Amino acid sequence: MYESFNQHKNGAEYLTSPLFDSYGIPHMFSTKNGGVSEGVFSSLNMSFGNGEMRDSRENVEENHRIAAEALGSLYEDLARTKQTHSNTVKIVESKDKGRVITKDKDGTGVDGLVTEESDILLCVRMADCVPVLLYDTKHEVCAAVHSGWRGTLGEITSKAVDLMKESFGTEPSSLIAAIGPSAKSCCYEVGEEIYSAFVAQNCVYEKAFDWRDGKLFLSVGELVKLQLLFLGVTDDKISISPLCTICNPELFFSHRRQGSARGTMAAFIKKRK
Ligand SMILES: [Zn+2]
Repeated sequence: MYESFNQHKNGAEYLTSPLFDSYGIPHMFSTKNGGVSEGVFSSLNMSFGNGEMRDSRENVEENHRIAAEALGSLYEDLARTKQTHSNTVKIVESKDKGRVITKDKDGTGVDGLVTEESDILLCVRMADCVPVLLYDTKHEVCAAVHSGWRGTLGEITSKAVDLMKESFGTEPSSLIAAIGPSAKSCCYEVGEEIYSAFVAQNCVYEKAFDWRDGKLFLSVGELVKLQLLFLGVTDDKISISPLCTICNPELFFSHRRQGSARGTMAAFIKKRK
């Protein structure tokens, strides 16, 4: 279900899902505001940058600290990922706090994190891609997933749910999901090869695409919602922000709007007390 996310200003400026708030789950979808970075990274930037322009380590760490403290956590509680648009999800333990999580010793990326341990603050980063937060309200397990179109095609959210099921006994009936602001079909034009790839996998995916004036537009968050419905999560347990990151420049960084000279946002979640 689409619902207007709650806006907060507590050092960091961020959004929360009303559904997750009703369950008392500490979480955040950061906006671009409330941090210390300047210029194209102004101001709550969560990444060093990909293009020629780089933000400083001090600024990026301070922005993570501001976000962590808004949720009552420490910077040292963070578990972050090296993201590569993969469909790899890993379980995070206390020993992983303060680390950047990779798949193997070779440093291969991971795009989803799951934990059942307290005081670990899971974090995934995005700037148009879909941040997905999951919570098992029966077994008290949480997950954060970075799901761009590639990860969505690789069904990374389903992989996260599978891992929660295998490791902790999660069932769809006790699962809630929050799908944060991302690129939506009002703005996000894509090529037909993306349409073909999804529809070949499941014709129901067609619902997430929109043809206008001979052009094709996509809401990746809608694809993630369909995947959660396939798993048996009911619509009233799937909370989606209606906001598009491309056409809300006052709130969000956007790769499609700004290219690589931009900041990056993040989604955070931890277990409730
Ligand atoms: Zn838009």
